[in-house]
Amino acid sequence: MDSETRKKLQQIIVKLGWTICRVYDYVSVKRCYRCSRFNHNHRECKGKEVFSLCTGNHSLKQCTAAPTKYKCINCMVYKKHHPTTQIDTAHTFPDKKCPSLKAILEKYKKNRMLNDKRTYTGQHGDQTQGTD
Ligand SMILES: [Zn+2]
Ligand SMILES: [Zn+2]
Ligand SMILES: [Zn+2]
Repeated sequence: MDSETRKKLQQIIVKLGWTICRVYDYVSVKRCYRCSRFNHNHRECKGKEVFSLCTGNHSLKQCTAAPTKYKCINCMVYKKHHPTTQIDTAHTFPDKKCPSLKAILEKYKKNRMLNDKRTYTGQHGDQTQGTD
């Protein structure tokens, strides 16, 4: 392979990598910045204010927890609802390995596929389109 071909190939790989990152579009998940839970926004919030990094009922300024104590609020909740599932809560949002985020993305994907099926019957191969 000559250097010109290699250059082109590298450009394609970079492009692909970027697309893969874009497909994993966690910002499309609705998330409340007040209580950090999914599927509602701060105006619909009925929960208490939660600092998302330590899961305490206070704001960032009042937080005294060490960063090593930080954990994922949504995985704590997920664990409560799925007691038999072994999940790691020692991460903060947004984390791509977050199990509760993955679960919610799966749900979103399924809903989207259902909607797609309703709109254009028979065609639902493309899951990469998701920008609203
Ligand atoms: Zn909320
Ligand atoms: Zn705190
Ligand atoms: Zn998590």
